[in-house]
Amino acid sequence: MYCPYCRHPDSRVIDSRTAEDGAAIRRRRSCSECGRRFTTQETVILMVAKRSGATEPFNRDKIVRGVRRACQGRPVSEDQLAILAQRVEDAIRSRGLGEVPSHEVGLAILGPLRDLDEVAYLRFASVYRGFESLTDFEEEIRALRAQHLQAARAAAEEAGEALGQPDGDGRSDRSSHDDMAASWPPAS
Ligand SMILES: [Zn+2]
Repeated sequence: MYCPYCRHPDSRVIDSRTAEDGAAIRRRRSCSECGRRFTTQETVILMVAKRSGATEPFNRDKIVRGVRRACQGRPVSEDQLAILAQRVEDAIRSRGLGEVPSHEVGLAILGPLRDLDEVAYLRFASVYRGFESLTDFEEEIRALRAQHLQAARAAAEEAGEALGQPDGDGRSDRSSHDDMAASWPPAS
């Protein structure tokens, strides 16, 4: 790597240490031409294997773009998108693999997106999983409702209260279904 000051192509490593909990190595270098010092960092580049067999570096912006499209018209901020993309990257990196198939990146998006906005989640899942009929949507919505119920039960148990008869109707998540009718440009 060229010296950032004089562009000399050669430098000497004077110190080397792991950084970021072992995920990176930092090297202190000294330019053998001008003598100035600089630091370089070496990290594993997380690669994504596409269906075509080609690989490309993992790109958080790409996650944000894909999810932003599913979030059109939804109350989701750019900050929330950035946090989601970070969660996806952390989840994938925590597996400790240098390369992941692209469909696993999509899978890793589903959970955090469901937590963020269920309508956006349904849009994303419909494209990502290739929903073909209303039945597919209905099944997904049923699964979301079951999760709501489970979460409500867990919360009630945690509060030390006995949950009465679940009404299962008139719940706020009903709006998810109605909003699905809104037009949304599917991912190309
Ligand atoms: Zn130099």
